Amino acid sequence: MINQVSIVLANYCPHCVPFSLSNAEKIAKDFEVPLRVLNIEISEQEIVADKLVKEYGDWSEDYLIPQVFVEYANGQVIHLLTGFSEAVSVTKTSWEALFSSSYYKNLLREHRFMNHKSLKDFVNKYLNFKGKCRRHCNKLTTLDELRYNANNMVGAYVCPDGYVSKVIYFSIDPDINWFKNFLITQVGKEIFNDRDLRLATRYGWELESDASTAIRKISPTGMIKEVYWTTYPKTDEEKKLGVFLCSNLQKGKVCRKLFIQEINSTNRLCQECK
Ligand SMILES: [Zn+2]
Ligand SMILES: [Zn+2]
Repeated sequence: MINQVSIVLANYCPHCVPFSLSNAEKIAKDFEVPLRVLNIEISEQEIVADKLVKEYGDWSEDYLIPQVFVEYANGQVIHLLTGFSEAVSVTKTSWEALFSSSYYKNLLREHRFMNHKSLKDFVNKYLNFKGKCRRHCNKLTTLDELRYNANNMVGAYVCPDGYVSKVIYFSIDPDINWFKNFLITQVGKEIFNDRDLRLATRYGWELESDASTAIRKISPTGMIKEVYWTTYPKTDEEKKLGVFLCSNLQKGKVCRKLFIQEINSTNRLCQECK
């Protein structure tokens, strides 16, 4: 993953400032990573610049500037461009050629693909809250993923004993009927009640600091819908039962099916896994 763009320059160099600097800023903006400016007139920056040019760029005792690099999180560095020794206009043209090249476009496409954020990543980062097990044990719950694809996720708040206090369907555009069927096929018609479904809209600004930017990357509307399912037992008979998550580990694959059993049972397996 590319995590930084660097430009080695000097302020006195007309090949560097202003146009190469602003072009390097454009790369950083395209890739949504920070730009590191290494000015060889400042000795600490020159040391870093020399090392970068020596290892990955076009090195000579009095090397040409500017030199531009993209750096990866794993330490890999790619040299992108060296200024021309000829007229300033030649360096300018080489920048234009870089931006219109399929090389640059592919690099950017690959980076965006690798960097693609799914709804699941967003939910786990911003919509995953600490809570306590309700009606069962009072231990801490965690949000377990039951199902997901790029735009949807179904998660359940589960305690260490597998009791489910809440199931949440997160979606950019929720299909309530699908969610209803998803629940009914697992817990049964008797347990499911339309009244137990509740809808909420989440906006980036009500979550953590950078959520507003992050939400735009996964949702065109800048919103995420949550459909909550929590059972509210009324009769004494209903109060004896609880929703549980099967924790069967078969060949490394977790079953993750919801099932109903007596609330004080220590069984962790659904009917099919038993
Ligand atoms: Zn519990
Ligand atoms: Zn199971």
